[in-house]
Amino acid sequence: MRIFIYSIVVWIFQLFLLPISNAQNSLKLQNDSVTYNLNPYLKMLKDDSRSLSITQIQSPVFQNRFVSHPSFSLGFSQAGYWLRFTILSPPDKNWILSIHNPLLVHARLYIPQGDSGFQVQELGSQTTKLYSYKYPIFSIKPQSATPQTYYLYVWGDGPLDLPVLIESETFFQKKDHSEQFWQGIFYGILFVMAIYNFILYVFLRDLSYLYYVLYLILIAFFLLSLSGYGNEWLWSSPSWWSDRAVFITGNLTAIMIVIFCLQFLHLRKTLPTWYNVGRYFIIITLVEIILGAFLPDLSLNMLLLTITAAIFVIIILSISIKSYQKGNLSAGYLLLAWTVMLISVGIAVLNAFGLIPSNTFTLKSLQIGSVTDVILISLALVDRIHSIQMQKIQIEQEKNNAERNQKVKEEVLATMSHEIRTPLNAVIGFAKLLEKTNTTQTQSDYIRHIHESAENLLVLINDILDLSKINAGKVTFEQVEINLQECVRHLFETLQFQVTEKKLEMKADIQEDVPTLFLGDPVRLNQILLNLLSNAVKFTPKGSVTLRIRTLKLEKQQIALLFEVEDTGIGIPANRLSSIFEGFTQASDQTTRMYGGTGLGLAIVKQLVEMQGGNIAVKSHPGIGSVFSVALPFYRVYSVTEKNETVPASFPETPLVLLIIDDNPLNRLIAQSTVHNASSNAKAELAGSGQEGIELLKKTEYHAVLIDLQMPDMDGYEVARHIRTHLPDKQHIPLIAMTASLDDRDHEQALAAGMHDIVTKPFEAGVLFKKIFKLRANLQNPGN
Ligand code: ADP
Repeated sequence: MRIFIYSIVVWIFQLFLLPISNAQNSLKLQNDSVTYNLNPYLKMLKDDSRSLSITQIQSPVFQNRFVSHPSFSLGFSQAGYWLRFTILSPPDKNWILSIHNPLLVHARLYIPQGDSGFQVQELGSQTTKLYSYKYPIFSIKPQSATPQTYYLYVWGDGPLDLPVLIESETFFQKKDHSEQFWQGIFYGILFVMAIYNFILYVFLRDLSYLYYVLYLILIAFFLLSLSGYGNEWLWSSPSWWSDRAVFITGNLTAIMIVIFCLQFLHLRKTLPTWYNVGRYFIIITLVEIILGAFLPDLSLNMLLLTITAAIFVIIILSISIKSYQKGNLSAGYLLLAWTVMLISVGIAVLNAFGLIPSNTFTLKSLQIGSVTDVILISLALVDRIHSIQMQKIQIEQEKNNAERNQKVKEEVLATMSHEIRTPLNAVIGFAKLLEKTNTTQTQSDYIRHIHESAENLLVLINDILDLSKINAGKVTFEQVEINLQECVRHLFETLQFQVTEKKLEMKADIQEDVPTLFLGDPVRLNQILLNLLSNAVKFTPKGSVTLRIRTLKLEKQQIALLFEVEDTGIGIPANRLSSIFEGFTQASDQTTRMYGGTGLGLAIVKQLVEMQGGNIAVKSHPGIGSVFSVALPFYRVYSVTEKNETVPASFPETPLVLLIIDDNPLNRLIAQSTVHNASSNAKAELAGSGQEGIELLKKTEYHAVLIDLQMPDMDGYEVARHIRTHLPDKQHIPLIAMTASLDDRDHEQALAAGMHDIVTKPFEAGVLFKKIFKLRANLQNPGN
């Protein structure tokens, strides 16, 4: 290990110190496959005013002023430099003399021609290039085997780096081919990475990838310009562009990297101050590019570019360090990349100012740095894909969990409400039956309280179930005929008891042009209006409750109706108005104590209204009253069907015998009592299981069969299917499902199993009879 470190130190030492060794007299060219470094053999004469001629400098006065120079990295200078060197070579051999500085565009070589003076080869912007190559080259062919003294005259706008090399033409070509090959591979890799990241951008739509692609393109152009391959491969030199390509592409690359950092590290959100610093840098650099494009003095361009590069490195280093400290781990890769860039730019800058000598490493430091950066940044981007994937997986998992939880919640709610509703129905059913028996005043008061409490509990359970269905997006709306008159009558009947008890006045005000029949969901409309009306009744101690209905829009196919529920009650404080539509919210903390309720009703109403494309609003003055307005769209009906007009009477006038199949003895009893109490003509027989029911049905002729859906062994669906397939002579008997479930899917399933209709428990006898009459009429005259 120590030997390894030692050899690196020696290598660096040699690398930097080699050119400083004392200039020797003449370079002996012998070997065909060696690159000779001419720098130790160079003597230099500075020509500050760029006015000396070849004849002048050959005079002894000037000859004595030629001195060696430690590095031949002269930094930026406006002066001209005469370089003298002597070489010794076998005659008639072709050598290539090259100055490894693509930015140097003015060079003139004086080749000795025996006694007849010098042949001049000239490169530079003012004249045509002799060889179109990435850096200046000259071809020389010594004519005699004696030492020959050459003069090279250079001046320039960029940094005057003068690593002068000489090698045989064959060796030069061989080296050039291999270098072209490696350069091709390097730019090929940049190209492939650009394509790859562009595809990533198309799929991920993350701007970081697009900026990285642009950065790759710009850095490729920058390196092409810097290495001289741009001149050789892409554009002709000299030209306006070739003189400024390094300056422009270098600055654009810096801008692109800053844009990339701003996006990649989410600086706008995480570090707003640095985000602004980055933006100012971009703007200033753009201005600099525009200025530099028209400056006649190109040396200023190179100076500006170097300063920009230094500021740029400071900015991106600070940004990455801050981001890393804030916990952005991929900033670590960028930090590494910028450190490498800092070192390489530092070396390039020091070299440009002549502070460190030129050699392969110092001259190529920007290229080496850029390649390392490209690799490190792509690692950062790969890291990003990884973290995006992790995020996606996490989101997916969270979604699955949420869905599972939602499902479990729904199942628990559905089961619970079913389980609670069954005994609650028994309580309500028996309370109703008890109310009709002979009781003392106290007893009937108790019974009424039991009845009311049970009804309230039922409302609460239905509300919770409704809300969970709405939240799960499981609510669908029917489009069937709604008879507005009937609907209003039913609402008023329902509230009649409370209204009379509170001595309130209840009015309906329906505008004349409101159609009586239209299409919509009658159950939901009833639910909405009942909620608003019962609130109005509940919160109105004296005065009146009015339901007003008018048309908002009357078109060929659609109508929009406005329902207003106005009361003269306690009203709602202004600051609570906006929140009463939220779940579990009441207008005042005393509401529950004084009036009961859960604060769920209006939340459900609002959702139901909005899901149908309507809207709800409220106006209220405490102590004066409230107006709730609901606007709802409906479809129009044209042909009024006869059916509605001839609904048969609700109670049987001739004997009606029903079969009730239910496994729960309490439920059986309630159903039977409900039927018996409703009419002396009606009679219900009972079966405790599906099997028993089928046996009874085979023997006796019933007018209708009521079947509970949830039963052990043979459930209601099976009973229906059995009757449909195995008892052909019973097809005219209506099969009616009884269920405590409010789920539409259960209803659909029941109809699919062959039931004709459904009643929800606890059922009203009148409703049941109505259904039975209608069904019997239809089943016996299937044509109707
Ligand atoms: P609940 O009636 O079960 O408390 P709602 O969601 O139906 O729940 O109503 C929320 C609250 O809005 C009520 O508690 C009451 O404070 C207020 N509110 C609703 N309607 C009226 C009304 N007509 N008059 C006064 N306050 C009302």
